[in-house]
Amino acid sequence: MFSHLQPTPIDPILGLMAAYKEDPNPLKVDLGVGVYKDEQGHTAVLDCVKKAEALRLKNEDSKTYIGMAGDLSFNSHIEKLAFGQHKVLLSGRVTTAHTPGGTGALRVAAEFIKKANPDATVWVTNPTWANHISLFQAAGLTVKEYAYYDWETKGLKFDAMMTELAQVPAGDVVLVHACCHNPSGMDLNFEQWKQFAHLAKDKGFTPLVDMAYQGFGLGLEEDSQGLRYLADQVDEMLLCSSCSKNFGLYRERIGAVSIVTADSKTTDIAKSVLLAVVRSIYSMPPAHGAIIVSHILDSQELTALWHQELAVMRNRINDYRQLIIDKFAAEGITQDFSFITKQHGMFSFLGINKEQIERLRKEFSIYMVGSSRVSISGLNHSNIDYFANAMAQVLKG
Ligand code: PMP
Repeated sequence: MFSHLQPTPIDPILGLMAAYKEDPNPLKVDLGVGVYKDEQGHTAVLDCVKKAEALRLKNEDSKTYIGMAGDLSFNSHIEKLAFGQHKVLLSGRVTTAHTPGGTGALRVAAEFIKKANPDATVWVTNPTWANHISLFQAAGLTVKEYAYYDWETKGLKFDAMMTELAQVPAGDVVLVHACCHNPSGMDLNFEQWKQFAHLAKDKGFTPLVDMAYQGFGLGLEEDSQGLRYLADQVDEMLLCSSCSKNFGLYRERIGAVSIVTADSKTTDIAKSVLLAVVRSIYSMPPAHGAIIVSHILDSQELTALWHQELAVMRNRINDYRQLIIDKFAAEGITQDFSFITKQHGMFSFLGINKEQIERLRKEFSIYMVGSSRVSISGLNHSNIDYFANAMAQVLKG
C-alpha cells in the first residue's frame, strides 16, 4: 500500500534551511529560521536552564510515568505566568495539561474543539503561522482566515478584522496571537484587545489565544495584558503556550494547553475530555522541559536570572529593529521601513518582492522566506552592514 503514497512537499522554511547550510559563502546570512540567535549567531542554552538541569540531575529519583496532564507544578506555574492573579484561576475555572511544545498544545486544542463542537470553524489571521492551518485541518476542522495584516500600510486591517469577526457565529473558534504575531510582528494594542474581547463576548465565539512568545514583545506582564482582559470578559476560552522561545527550550518540546470554562464544575468535565484527548495521541508528555521550567520558577534566584536572560533576548531584538532603520538610512535607502520599529517579536515582513528576495539569496547569500518575512535576531554586528548594503543595491533595481 505504501507504493500508492504521493510525496508531500516539504515546508519551504526547511528547504531554505538546507540551502543555507550548503551555501559556501562565508558572508551568508540566515534570516529565515524562527529561533533566537545571539550576537555570535548562536542559539545558546540559557544559564538558568543549565542550573535547573543540574538540579534535576541531582534530585531526580525516578523515571516513572508522569501522568496525562504532565507536571502539575509546571502547569500551575504556566497558568500564573499567563493569567497572573486572575479570577479565572482563583475560581478554579482553568485546567491545564503540559504538552510536547506549543505545537502539541495546538494539536490537543484542535482535538478538544472537535469533541466540543465537531462542526466548529477555526478562524485564523491572514496571514498566520502556516502550521496553524495544517494542525486544525488535521483534526478534521474547517479553517478560515480573517483580515489581519495590511500589506499596503504594513499595519493592521483592524476595522476589516472586526467587521469579519462580527459575522462569526457562536460555536466557532477565533485564534488570536497573544503577542509577537508570527509572521508579521504586528500586534493588537490594548485598546484593540478590548474591542476584540467585547466582540467575543457579544457574539459568543470562543477565543483561542496562541502565546508562543510571552516576554519577547514588551515584557512578560505586558505581553499577557490582552489575554488577561479577554479572560475578564468571556466565559470560555483556550490558551496554547510555548516555552520554546522564552526559555530557549526548543528541542525539549515543552508547552501547555489551558482550557478556561464558565464554572469549576465544567472545568472538571473539560479536564476529563482534555486528558482523554492526550491519552489517544501520545498518552503522556515528556517530562524534562517541564521540570526545568518548574525548577526555574520554584526558585526566586533562578527566576530572577531567567528574567534577566529573557530581557537580553527581547532588548537585542528591539534594538536591532531600530538599528535596521539607522543602517538603511546610512546606506541612502529612502523607502519607509519605520514600520519595523512598530512591530514586535522575532519577525517582520520587509515587504520586498519575489525578485528582490531572489537577488538577495543568489547574489548575497541572504536567506529569507518567500513572503519577505525576516527573523530579526539573525542580524548581528558582523552582518548588519552587509545586509543593509545588499538591501540598498537590491532596492535600487
Ligand atoms: N505558535 C506560533 C505562532 C509559533 O510561531 C510557534 C513556533 N514557531 C508555535 C506556536 C509552536 O512552537 P513550538 O511547538 O516550537 O513550541
